[in-house]
Amino acid sequence: MIEEGIAGDNNPDDDPPTPFNSEEIKKRVAQINRENKSKEEQKAIKTLENKLLPKLEEYERHLDTLGNRNSYSKTDTDETFMRMKEDHILNGQLKPAYNVQISTESQFISHYDFYPYPTDTLTLIPFLNSFENRYNNLPGKVVADSGYGSEENYEFMQDNDIEPFVKFNYYHKEQKRAFKKNGFLSQNLYYNSEEDYYVCPMVQHMDKVGNKRNKTASGYTSTSTLYEAKNCNGCPLKCLCTNAKGNRRIEVSHNLNRHKQRIRELLTSEEGVYHRSQRPIEPESVFGQTKSNKHYNRFRHFKKDKFLMDFAIFAIAFNIGKLHLKGLNNKEIWAFLGKYGQKGVVILFLVKIGVNFKSFSSVNNYNQKTAA
Ligand code: SF4
Repeated sequence: MIEEGIAGDNNPDDDPPTPFNSEEIKKRVAQINRENKSKEEQKAIKTLENKLLPKLEEYERHLDTLGNRNSYSKTDTDETFMRMKEDHILNGQLKPAYNVQISTESQFISHYDFYPYPTDTLTLIPFLNSFENRYNNLPGKVVADSGYGSEENYEFMQDNDIEPFVKFNYYHKEQKRAFKKNGFLSQNLYYNSEEDYYVCPMVQHMDKVGNKRNKTASGYTSTSTLYEAKNCNGCPLKCLCTNAKGNRRIEVSHNLNRHKQRIRELLTSEEGVYHRSQRPIEPESVFGQTKSNKHYNRFRHFKKDKFLMDFAIFAIAFNIGKLHLKGLNNKEIWAFLGKYGQKGVVILFLVKIGVNFKSFSSVNNYNQKTAA
């Protein structure tokens, strides 16, 4: 009976319930106020109007400011609380911060932007879009670490003809012997693509039992396929294979697997090995110089537009310093500037005033969470 009631409440064909907000309550209160009320009702309405409604409006304002974040700073509502790497007290301190993304090319800062999300996965697409706004073009190649590897990001790069030299989460782990030898991992089960089934360690077919749609925080929907073993009862390997009470079920995103295969090929190619070797030299060195050598660890302003201005001035100064250090006769610089045509020198310093030039051929992403 109860289950039927719950099933009725959760009927997917039903229209979604209309949100019950403070405006709706105000309308109903006004309607009730027009009618005759008992003393008790008058008292209840007064409490609602004077105490509960203002509180609800306050919560609504907070939720509105919060958007799809988990927290925000009251002193600068654009900032989100993030766990910082420099935690002197070592107690997992949270500080209001932005996730600052920079891209580099030959150790010059080519682009930067700030995001309120602590995870890097959500920043790649907006970063590339803002890169396109600045240079009127998307980069042809992106080199970034595994924090940026997600199905959504791979799809975006594929759709925009960007070569993704971007690792995924398990890229290093799956190359370890312990991982390769573990026959129970779903990644290591045999898959028959023609008949669409997996084979478990006890040589049982795991047939397709359905699909599952997962929605990411940015709204991207990925579809996974579910496969289930026919009968795990009494299997002597069950304690090693699954914790499930019934039959073992696995969830596989074939689209993500397809992207991963392409990434493996790209990263192990000659060009991929070269780009990977450049990562510690490219963005990491800029990051080190920024945070350690120049002590650029904190912003001195509030609000995003002021941070952007602050960082823009820093990036210009940084690039001028880099140009000076490398020396104008350096071949590497001229090769780099050659990508921008005759006005190559100008691009590094004038991007903030809206001058659009050709795009970089590659982008190395690095993130630094900078406390405000
Ligand atoms: S527990 Fe099930 S899926 Fe795992 S090996 Fe045994 S039969 Fe196969």
